[in-house]
Amino acid sequence: MIWYPYTQQKTMAEAYNVSSADGVYLNLADGRRVIDAISSWWCVIHGYNHPELNAAAIRQLNKMAHVMLGGLTHDPALELARTLVRITPAGLNHVFFSDSGSVGVEVALKMAIQYWQNLGEKEKVKILTLKKAYHGDTTGAMSVSDPEEGMHRLFSPLLLQQCFLEAPRMGVEPDAALLKSDIHHLESVLKHEHRRLAAFIVEPLMQAAGGFNMYAPEYLQAARDLCNRYNVLLIYDEVATGFGRTGAMFAAERAGAIPDIMILAKGLTAGYTAHAATLANDKVYTAFYDDDPAKAFMHGPTFMGNPLACAIALKSIQIFERDNYLEKINRIESQLKTELSGLTGEHVKDTRVLGATGVIEMTTPAALNGVTRFALDRGVWLRPFDRYLYTMPPYIISSAELKKITDVMKEWVTSKQE
Ligand SMILES: *Cc1c(COP(=O)(O)O)cnc(C)c1O
Repeated sequence: MIWYPYTQQKTMAEAYNVSSADGVYLNLADGRRVIDAISSWWCVIHGYNHPELNAAAIRQLNKMAHVMLGGLTHDPALELARTLVRITPAGLNHVFFSDSGSVGVEVALKMAIQYWQNLGEKEKVKILTLKKAYHGDTTGAMSVSDPEEGMHRLFSPLLLQQCFLEAPRMGVEPDAALLKSDIHHLESVLKHEHRRLAAFIVEPLMQAAGGFNMYAPEYLQAARDLCNRYNVLLIYDEVATGFGRTGAMFAAERAGAIPDIMILAKGLTAGYTAHAATLANDKVYTAFYDDDPAKAFMHGPTFMGNPLACAIALKSIQIFERDNYLEKINRIESQLKTELSGLTGEHVKDTRVLGATGVIEMTTPAALNGVTRFALDRGVWLRPFDRYLYTMPPYIISSAELKKITDVMKEWVTSKQE
C-alpha cells in the first residue's frame, strides 16, 4: 500500500492512475487525456516524454547510470557545473550537487553556518527567514519555513529556532509605502540580530508553496545591500523560481540582485529524475579553501552528481536556450494576465501573475472543495493547496491549451457564485 503525500489516507479519494504522458498531456488509465496545468509540481518544464531528453537519458544510461562523486568524477557533472556557472548570475562559480530541493537547502544552510565557523565567527549560527516561506520538508528546511503553516507547526519541538521576519507585503508593482516599511523591518532585524545571523534565506520574487506571495525586485536589492552592510550571507532558494518560472532564467536576474548562495532543483532536471545544485560565490568558497582538512565542507549525498541526472539537465538547458524559452514564458505571462487579471467573484480574494505562474486566491480553502474533480471532468489536471487555485504549466503549452486551463479555473470560480 502506498502512503500518499500530504493526504489523509482514510478519507482520500482514489488517486488517478496515469499510464503514460506526452507533451502537456497525462493519459489516465481510464482512457481520459488531460492537460497537466501544474507540470507535476512545477518541474516538467519541457512537457512529458520529450524525444531529445529521452535520447539524452538513454545515451547516458548506455555509458553508466551512476558513479560516486567521492574521489571520482565524470564529464556529465563537470559539464553541468560549467554550464550552471555560465547561465547563473555572475560570481556563482562553485557547484555542490545533491539529490532534491530540500537537501539542496540543507546544503546551503550548512554552507552558511560553516562559512562563519571557518572564519572564527562562532556566534553566527542562526538563519533569518520570512514568514510564508516554504523551503522543503527536511528538518533544517522546515526550520526556515513558515512556523505557523500546518505542514510544519507540528514538528516545532524538533526544529532549530530560527529568526523570522514578516513576509514582504508590497506586491509585484510595489506599493511605495509598504515597500519602505518592509525594508525598514528587514533593516531593524538585521541591525539587532546580525551578530548571531549566518544568512538570510529567501525565495526571490515569489514565495511559492507558502501561498504565492509575489513581491518586487526593490526588496531584494535592499536585502543585498543590507546583508553586505551587516555581514550576513544572502541565500536564494530558486528551487521553484529557477529555470524561467518568474519570467527570467533565474529570479536573481529579474531582481537585479545576486545572492552569495543559490539553490536549484525542480526544473533543473525537467521532471525526469531528482537532482539539485547549490551554487556559491568565491567569497563563500574561499572560506573553505585551506590546508586544514577540518575546513572542508562536510556533506556528501550518495547520488550527488548522478550522471543520468546531469546528462538530462544539460540537454534540458540546451533546449531552453536554443528554443528561446524566455519568449515562450513571456507569452504565457501576458496571456495569464489577460485571462486572470481583474477576475472577481464572491469567493475570489485576489489574482496574481508572475512569469509562467497564474494564481487565483480564494477567501477560504473550502471554496476549492471538489475543484480537482471538476477540472478533470473538463480535461485539466489542477491540484490546489490551501486557498490557492493556480497554474504553472509546462513552457511548451500552446495558447489554446493554456486558455483551456484558465477557462476551467474561471468556470469554477463563476460556478461558486450564487
Ligand atoms: C519544492 C521546493 C523545495 C523542496 O524541493 P524537494 O525537491 O521537494 O525536496 C524547496 N524550496 C522550494 C522553494 C520549493 O518550491
